[in-house]
Amino acid sequence: MRLYDTRTRRRVDLALGHTVRVYTCGITPYASAHLGHAFTYASVDALVRWLTARGHRVLSVRNVTDVDDDILGVARERGEDYLALGQAEVERFDRDLAALGLLAPTAVPRPTRAIPAIRAAVRGLLDTGSAYALPDGRVYFDTAASATWGALSGLDAEEMLRQFAAKGGDPDATGKRAAVDFLLWQPSAAGEPSWESPVPDCPPGRPGWHIECSAMVMEELGGVLDIHAGGSDLVFPHHEAEIQQAEHLTGQGPFARAWFHVGLVGLDGEKMSKSLGNLVFVRDLLERYEAGAVRRHLLEHHYRSPWEYDEVAMAQSAGAHKAWTDAAAHGGERPDLEERFAAAMEDDVDTPAAIAVLDEAAQAGAGATLRQLGGALGFAFPPSRG
Ligand SMILES: [Zn+2]
Repeated sequence: MRLYDTRTRRRVDLALGHTVRVYTCGITPYASAHLGHAFTYASVDALVRWLTARGHRVLSVRNVTDVDDDILGVARERGEDYLALGQAEVERFDRDLAALGLLAPTAVPRPTRAIPAIRAAVRGLLDTGSAYALPDGRVYFDTAASATWGALSGLDAEEMLRQFAAKGGDPDATGKRAAVDFLLWQPSAAGEPSWESPVPDCPPGRPGWHIECSAMVMEELGGVLDIHAGGSDLVFPHHEAEIQQAEHLTGQGPFARAWFHVGLVGLDGEKMSKSLGNLVFVRDLLERYEAGAVRRHLLEHHYRSPWEYDEVAMAQSAGAHKAWTDAAAHGGERPDLEERFAAAMEDDVDTPAAIAVLDEAAQAGAGATLRQLGGALGFAFPPSRG
């Protein structure tokens, strides 16, 4: 199948074996799932369902980041245990995604359960000279030691530094060789969870965010992935860092044969984000619309396109989904549509084109074809009345 690969900036003809390894960066569970999350994971779900329909065994891993600055901060504010806070949010998130018809991942690793793998990865990077430790126990990746740093994002040094600072990096911290060198390990502050340091004779600490994903990918799926997915806001520095860590550890590359980046969802001209507070929650939409209508609305957008949530467009999707449900209540076949549906999905997971084929099936009264092809895209309809 053809997939656009962010790293090479072109569509690649991806030859796939029986087993396909897919890793998706998951949530940090301290706030409810919003439409941006749902779009990312529904897009990956469409990809995974299509690969499965093609006969592949898909190993689909999506992590939960259960320890980082944000979740520790919120837990401290609320006086809650960070793991209990995270677990409650994960359960709400899973309920929302399951309601939208998303398949559960094959595995859901969490950093707090993968500390030995993360510690070994940090030690490995120190051993290869790709990282350096400071006397206080901080360990940084040495970005100057890499010839491919920046190849994924294509950003110049100034823009890298801007994004690094804006997305939680520590450009001004003392002792670093370069401002964009990113943390692999840090000593924990008082009251924070901590684990034995990968550096001998250093105080206990906790991992940096980026190394968690590289280590969990390698633990769950090995050193080379077929497809790495995530929101397009993760390209830099998170995915740029993941590539460096993994390729310096394994000596193999590319770390991912294709990078599948999902566009961001906006509201009123801004990216939907917790910090701006302009969020549309999946749970709220599910109270007002059928799950299939919300799913349809998400997949009407191509995964790589950024888009804005719009109430009128959502209502139109709900109307179109109702037409599907009506058509699916009857029989009728249009076998010629199967090939066009497959061609759309093979062409960089073109779900808007696939949905247009389903619309054509509905308009033609081909309820059996609609049920069959809609099922491949994760839409479920009540049994036919014949
Ligand atoms: Zn990640």
